[in-house]
Amino acid sequence: MADNESSKKRKRAGRRNKSHTQKLKLSTERESTSPKAERINEEATEKPKASASASAKRLKSQGKLSNSSSFLDKMKAKLSGGHFRMINEKLYTCTGKEALEYFNDDPTLFDTYHTGYQEQMSHWPELPVDIIIKWLKEHSPSLVVADFGCGDARLAKNVKNKVFSFDLISNDPSVISCDMANTPLGSTSVDVAVFCLSLMGTNFPNYLNEAHRILKPRGWLLIAEVKSRFDSTTGGADPKTFTKAVCDLGFTSVSKVSICSSHFLGRLKIIFFVLIVLYVHCLQDFSNKMFMLFYFKKKEEQDSKKKDIEWPELKPCLYKRR
Ligand code: SAH
Repeated sequence: MADNESSKKRKRAGRRNKSHTQKLKLSTERESTSPKAERINEEATEKPKASASASAKRLKSQGKLSNSSSFLDKMKAKLSGGHFRMINEKLYTCTGKEALEYFNDDPTLFDTYHTGYQEQMSHWPELPVDIIIKWLKEHSPSLVVADFGCGDARLAKNVKNKVFSFDLISNDPSVISCDMANTPLGSTSVDVAVFCLSLMGTNFPNYLNEAHRILKPRGWLLIAEVKSRFDSTTGGADPKTFTKAVCDLGFTSVSKVSICSSHFLGRLKIIFFVLIVLYVHCLQDFSNKMFMLFYFKKKEEQDSKKKDIEWPELKPCLYKRR
C-alpha cells in the first residue's frame, strides 16, 4: 500500500518536472526567436522602401499620385494666396515710406505680391489699366505720361507715348523705383498722371500732391480705384467728398461727355447723347462692377490761397480668399 502511494507521488513529481522543463524550453525558444523577429521587423520596414517605386507606379497608374500632387499644388496656392493677402493688407495700412522699407528689406515680397495680384486680376472681366491704355490711344501719342504705381508696367508697354513708370521695387530697367510721394521728375513736366489701383498708402493725398506738382497746367489726372473703396454704404468714401478734395488740390473734375447747344437740333443732340450716356453707363456698370474711374484736369491758374483739404479715408481693398 505504502509502495503504491510512493510510486504515485513519484509519477506526479515526474509530470510536474516535465511541464516545468517544457515551460523552460518554451521560454528559451521565445528568447531565441526574438532576434529572428527583429530581422522580420527589419524586413518589414525595408520592404516598403524596396517597393516604393513599384507602389508609386501603381498609384500613378491609378491616378492617385497625380491627385496627391494636385492637392499639394492646391495647398501651395493657398499658402501663397494667404501671403499675398497679408502683403496687400500691409500696403493699404502703412505709408508709402514704410512700404518702401518693407519691400527693400525683402524684395521677394514684391514678386509674391505681384503673383497674387495677377491671380486676382485674372478673375476680373476687364482690367482698369486696359481702359486707361484705350483712353491714351484715343489721345495724342505726344502726351508725356507718369504711371504712379505701375506694377509690371503694362501701360508703358502698350502705348506709343513716353511713359515714366514708378513703383516701389523695380525688376524692369524701365521702371523707376521710388516712393511715389517723391518722384525724380521736375515740376510741370508731364501731361498725364495715372493712378491705376495704386492709391494704397494711408498718405495717398501726398501722391496726388506729387502728381499735381509734376503735371503741366491743364494736364490730366486719371484715377482708377476699386469700387468698394467708394461704397459709402459699406464704409467706403463718398465719391463726391473724394472728388471735392481733389478739386480743392487744384483740379477740375471732367465728365467725359460735354453737351453745349441751345437750339432744336442741339436739344435733339442732348436727348441723343443722354440716351447714349445712359446706355454706356448701363454697359459700364455691367462690365466695370469692380472699379471706378475718375478724370480730372489740373487748373490753369492755381488758387492763390491754399485750402485746408478734407480728405476722406479710403478703406483698404482686401481681396477675398478664392
Ligand atoms: N497700376 C498697375 C499695378 C497696380 S498694383 C496695374 O493696374 O496693373 C499697385 C501698385 O502700386 C503696386 O505695384 C505697388 O507696389 C505700387 N505702390 C503702392 N504704393 C506705392 C508707393 N508709395 N510708391 C510707389 N509705388 C507704390
